[in-house]
Amino acid sequence: MSKIIAKVIVDNRASKTDKPYTYAVKKDMEEDLKQGMRVLVPFGMGNRFIKGIVIETERYSGDIFKLKYIEELLDDRPIISEEILELGLWMREKYLSSYLDALHAVMPPGDIKEITTYIYMKNRPSSETYSLSHIQKNIINLLNKNEKISFKELKEKIKDNNIRKHIKKLEEIGILETDLEVGTKVGKRYEKYIDLKDNNIKLEELISEIDNRAFKQKEIIEYLYMHGETPLKKLLKEVNTSHGVIKSLEKKNRIAIIEREVLRNPIPKGILNYEKHRLTEKQQYCLDEILNCIKENKENKFLIHGVTGSGKTEIYLQLIEKLIEKGKEAIVLVPEISLTPQTVERFVGRFGQNVAVLHSRLSAGERFDEWRRIKRGEVKIVVGARSAVFAPFNNLGIIIIDEEHENSYKSSMNPKYNAIEVAEKRCELEGAALVLGTATPSIETYYRAKNGEIKLLTLLDRINNKKLPIMNIVDMRDELNSGNKSILSTDLYNAIEENLKDKKQTILFLNRRGYSTFISCRKCGYIAKCKNCDISLTYHFSDNKLKCHYCGMIDTPPRICPKCGSKYIKYFGSGTQRVEDLIKKLFPQAKVARMDVDTTSRKGSHEKILQNVKNGNIDILIGTQMITKGLDFPLVTLVGIIAADTSLNLPDFRSSERTFQLLTQVGGRAGRGDFEGQVIVQTYNPKHFSIQMAKEHNYTQFYNKEILLRREFKYPPYMEIISLVIYGRDKGKVSEVSKEVYGKIILELRKNKLEKLEKDIFGPNPAPLEKLKNNHRWQIIFKSDKGDSSMLKDIINRVCIYNSQSKKYKGIKFSIDVNPNSIL
Ligand code: ADP
Ligand code: ZN
Ligand code: ZN
Repeated sequence: MSKIIAKVIVDNRASKTDKPYTYAVKKDMEEDLKQGMRVLVPFGMGNRFIKGIVIETERYSGDIFKLKYIEELLDDRPIISEEILELGLWMREKYLSSYLDALHAVMPPGDIKEITTYIYMKNRPSSETYSLSHIQKNIINLLNKNEKISFKELKEKIKDNNIRKHIKKLEEIGILETDLEVGTKVGKRYEKYIDLKDNNIKLEELISEIDNRAFKQKEIIEYLYMHGETPLKKLLKEVNTSHGVIKSLEKKNRIAIIEREVLRNPIPKGILNYEKHRLTEKQQYCLDEILNCIKENKENKFLIHGVTGSGKTEIYLQLIEKLIEKGKEAIVLVPEISLTPQTVERFVGRFGQNVAVLHSRLSAGERFDEWRRIKRGEVKIVVGARSAVFAPFNNLGIIIIDEEHENSYKSSMNPKYNAIEVAEKRCELEGAALVLGTATPSIETYYRAKNGEIKLLTLLDRINNKKLPIMNIVDMRDELNSGNKSILSTDLYNAIEENLKDKKQTILFLNRRGYSTFISCRKCGYIAKCKNCDISLTYHFSDNKLKCHYCGMIDTPPRICPKCGSKYIKYFGSGTQRVEDLIKKLFPQAKVARMDVDTTSRKGSHEKILQNVKNGNIDILIGTQMITKGLDFPLVTLVGIIAADTSLNLPDFRSSERTFQLLTQVGGRAGRGDFEGQVIVQTYNPKHFSIQMAKEHNYTQFYNKEILLRREFKYPPYMEIISLVIYGRDKGKVSEVSKEVYGKIILELRKNKLEKLEKDIFGPNPAPLEKLKNNHRWQIIFKSDKGDSSMLKDIINRVCIYNSQSKKYKGIKFSIDVNPNSIL
């Protein structure tokens, strides 16, 4: 006779236990056991009990006498859906993470060991309980005495093998409700509510019993009669009365005081209603296309390529409205909540309480509360950063990813997932639509759109025919030649002065200082680059060498420019602080603010700075990447980009793409209101195609050129890149292990007849960031065709896991990143 067996991932941090363990299932558990449930299992030699997650159940007809039995089910139902579980398992494979890390990403936030299922009384049963069984009545009796009871305690008290069925039955007829809670340091909050004791008595009758002089009491009764249950605070305010009056009504047994848990709701207060816009013809076309494709099951992946200010957000909003009408739910991903307050305000302003905002700064308790609100279907829309892609909706209709080109969608922690790929997978699993939006699509996404995998929708104009800003390129070599050694060109200086006079606002952008330094000639713009990889060489102070971090090529830095012979050949880089000091000195009358990691470490500081810009309290905002995202300030008419070269010369194959995106996005902040905008871009490389194409607002031409380079030098989307970083405290050991791991991988490749991949393996080399948090880091980079990548991944994973358990490699760790954002 066949039996049910279950595959369980145990919640144990050791990497060698990170695999499915098979357990037998007792007869009386068979029916209830589902994948996605937590269980208690005996584990290891001592058979100590440990919590785990069931990832699979199956019928099995072989011998099971060797198997241990699952001891107990910890949940009365799966805590995540089948699809979400599958998504987690898919991530593990795709991003080479551990089971546990992958599952943690999709499970409720917090420590899943601390989750408890509670049973509540929802509605007291009416007098007709004759249809209930003896056990069901017992359950009700227990709950009559307690507000709630944990599933575990209930099991202990009732002692019946079919208890889950009884609970389910009571839930179906609306008597019970079950819910999850997580142990957290954040206490629950309760709030007092007031209601009439008996809702079946007529108003006249209620009033007539109250003394004529007690008119406040009458008012309260009237109010409650009209409005129903009301928070105490609100009632006191609305009726303008005191606690005393409430107390006396309670004494008369007319009203009831009820304590209710307040879910910690992190939606910012005081957000104004965001009125619906009448769509322009082009917006309407976009919306209709998407809705039609979804309806007719034609396509369900879309890219809205719309210039800055073309009204993409309004399309998202109306799209969601339509889907909600059909009973669907929506997830909206934004790069980072605190940097995109305006986008969030629009969603909350349009849909109010129907929105949950998953802020990265929520406390553990708040995060869990939001998760529950979503799970219980109390909200229909979730807006959040990348992890919101796992929001536990049951009827997902759409995932929208705004600013899809942003690199914050890629996780830097395990599992190192890309939220866009995860979203796509989730949409496939749940039959939902995926909408990506941006003014500057990533090369990979646009490539797929051109190949017909994603439907492309283009918006070429700003709303109300507002013009795109004029982009002026300033050649900093000329500045030097005419004697200006300042970091501000004459043009930018003059434009700022002019703007101050006009009482308009200015944004000055400075790229976050790169981790590495490149060498360039200030006279002719020459950049030291690797011949093999087309990547800027990185200057290393320690040994005065130039290095390529892709192929490992080493060169001596030139003392005079190889191109023009000038001796103005320099290391590059300057900080926002320095720019701020200079601006304050040059324009003492201006109100200046700086927004970078140093000025925004405190909670709410982003919002405050942006609020000040909005209110006109700031004339000049100086910032890093933080200010590139979705800001819509009508008085900003000038954007200055201090040094386009910093991003242009990052030692990364995406540097051209990043530069184009940056110029377009930062520039796109200018001229969004009633006044035309201009952008001044300072650079030593005015002819570079990223800069030229950004100047002309010509994405397609930029793409056409960049895609050729990607093919030529074998980068995504043509190839997959895997970066393996080997790190540890002991410098010698790190390099030794790196070489050994490399050797083993090569050996495995040969065994598997994959020699052809060898030529596209680079390293082992010291990583661009050679030392990080006291760890020495080495790196191996693999490039492979999509077709070979899963075999390659498998080999890398096996070699690394195998090694991580060997004593010889104690203190050495491996970090694997599939298609990393950058290889710094
Ligand atoms: P994007 O996200 O494409 O950069 P936004 O969604 O921020 O553009 O829209 C730019 C501005 O145009 C916003 O201030 C928005 O309120 C406004 N807007 C959008 N759609 C319309 C419309 N149909 N009619 C009038 N104004 C609109
Ligand atoms: Zn030169
Ligand atoms: Zn190279």
